[in-house]
Amino acid sequence: MDFFEKECVHRWKANGLPRKGWELVDVEDTGDLTSECEWCGTSIRYVHHIVHKTQGHRSTCGCVCGENLTQDYVGHRAKEKMLRKTASMSKRWLTSPRWRQSERGNIYRRDQAVQVLLYKKGANWGIKVGEDWGTRTYPSLDQAKIAALRLLNERP
Ligand SMILES: [Zn+2]
Repeated sequence: MDFFEKECVHRWKANGLPRKGWELVDVEDTGDLTSECEWCGTSIRYVHHIVHKTQGHRSTCGCVCGENLTQDYVGHRAKEKMLRKTASMSKRWLTSPRWRQSERGNIYRRDQAVQVLLYKKGANWGIKVGEDWGTRTYPSLDQAKIAALRLLNERP
């Protein structure tokens, strides 16, 4: 907390946003350190998307600032941990020989008794993991595979 106390509070006053009442929306793995926490300026790979519960502001930040803004000391860490696991598994996942192609051109595999399905939707790929349909589509098959892996890792 030393860094947070000294550096963040100083900068926090500058962005004009409320310092309490935030909620975690999601965490994104950008794959590199080109993003910055909007609150303390730290370079971050895992971008935490937060929304203000009453005023609707949206902001992005790193894990430490996120925890202090949302007072959620479980969710931020859990999401980052899941994303680290997904990243460490991704290379083997993408190139696994277990992917199959159906006659209709869908790509699928079965993991931990869960069926993973990637299906063509226009020029993009949609995903389904178990009974969960993905909320968006992806321009490449590899992106769809990684999104499916994330969904799989997020299952309880
Ligand atoms: Zn920060």
